[in-house]
Amino acid sequence: MKLNRKDFFKGAALGIISLPFAIKGCTNENIAQSSSTTTVSGKKYKWKMVTTWPPKFPVLGEGCELFAKWVYEMSGGRMEIKVYGGGELVPALEIFNAVSSGAAEIGHGSAYYWAGMAPSSQFFASVPFGMNAQQMNSWLISGGGLELWEELYDKFNLIPMPAGNSGVQMGGWFNKEINSVADLQGLKMRMPGLGGKVLAKAGGNPILIAGGELYTSLERGVIDATEWIGPYHDYIMGFHQIAKYYYSPGWHEAGTVLEMFFNKEKFNGLPSDLQEILRTAAMRLNMWMLSELEAKNTFYLKKILAESDAELRVFPQEVLDELKKYTDEVLADVTASDPFAKRVYESYDNFRKDAAEWSKLTEKVFYNKIQI
Ligand code: CA
Repeated sequence: MKLNRKDFFKGAALGIISLPFAIKGCTNENIAQSSSTTTVSGKKYKWKMVTTWPPKFPVLGEGCELFAKWVYEMSGGRMEIKVYGGGELVPALEIFNAVSSGAAEIGHGSAYYWAGMAPSSQFFASVPFGMNAQQMNSWLISGGGLELWEELYDKFNLIPMPAGNSGVQMGGWFNKEINSVADLQGLKMRMPGLGGKVLAKAGGNPILIAGGELYTSLERGVIDATEWIGPYHDYIMGFHQIAKYYYSPGWHEAGTVLEMFFNKEKFNGLPSDLQEILRTAAMRLNMWMLSELEAKNTFYLKKILAESDAELRVFPQEVLDELKKYTDEVLADVTASDPFAKRVYESYDNFRKDAAEWSKLTEKVFYNKIQI
């Protein structure tokens, strides 16, 4: 059914507007059918969730513990989930295989960690100069992104769901100012993933260093700069004590999606009410992590500035333009290497372009002229 402008106003006036695409699969008959086939069994499930985060990691690990608590309470104690930090049950970067094989039932991480196995996975996490949290949620939940993600993970015996977002990250900590692209030449910076590839094309030297060694590496000059997450996590790391300039924006991570994935057979073997409880709790976690990080980052940015000599900087336009140019080259390499990556990126980029037009007219104007 095509909804035209006249119908819209007619319906709206009566307060009975119905949007067929929004209520697909949610008719009264469907509800009656599904409730008649769902019988709550008393069977109890004890599941394991393996994560890429250090144990009890602020917000990300804490959120997984909350997820387990919500599921336990919503299921009336029928599902108990034990959360493991990276290395507690399997090493952080082994969780994908562990859940795929059924050694654990649930994983929580971010899809760009699996780029070596599936290059397209990066597009379900973060693309430099790409979509922000709101746009990623729109693409995944309502724009066809999740269907592609499910298609990819199905090959690995997994079912993915968005379950958290970092929001726009910061550009990182530097001990010298970045005034031009020349200042990136030879710069030794901790910068993983696609962002690292872009930095390398710009003449920088991306270095992969585990979180636990970052502070010492920056303090001792093993690296010149590092990106991490945002003010809350950066404050905990103490970077403001050893680096002078705090740069914005995190051009490489505008809204990194955090994922939850389930072993396919284990998930499909659950009664439908428990499946819906897991889906609902994942969606709640998706919103909780972003909200929690926004609130914490707002507070901790003030704390960093009050407690240290760190100075805020914004990358010059010329530097961002150059990095964007190299990003296009890096993305062309990724999509040329893998047909599925090409398909996913086309969906991603078409959505991004349309979302950009809408945002230019609305949020961008709002931020530029009204709120700030
Ligand atoms: Ca980061």
